[in-house]
Amino acid sequence: MSFLVNMDPELLFLVCIFYILVVFSVSRLGMSKAGGITRTFILSLVFTPLTGLVYILSSPVKNLIHTVHYRCTHCGLEYTEKHEHCPACLKEGNKHRLKTISMKTF
Ligand SMILES: [Zn+2]
Repeated sequence: MSFLVNMDPELLFLVCIFYILVVFSVSRLGMSKAGGITRTFILSLVFTPLTGLVYILSSPVKNLIHTVHYRCTHCGLEYTEKHEHCPACLKEGNKHRLKTISMKTF
């Protein structure tokens, strides 16, 4: 580690900034993985970004649940089944289309 002491302070500062940028880039990969951003960030910072990269590549993808809802553009009611027109508005004699809303949750 003596090369770090002998290094130009400005160069050392730049190396540190670069290191942290690499750590951030690697931990961003953890967003969609079960390993998560925080764990990847700590691993990358302490045990080099290469360790974090190996960890996140071996980590499984998070379970994504894809749900679809249908919301009335008039009254705002949401339905889980598809209807031609909003059933609540149809009772009042108004025909309003339902808007499809897709959501992804972990
Ligand atoms: Zn409605």
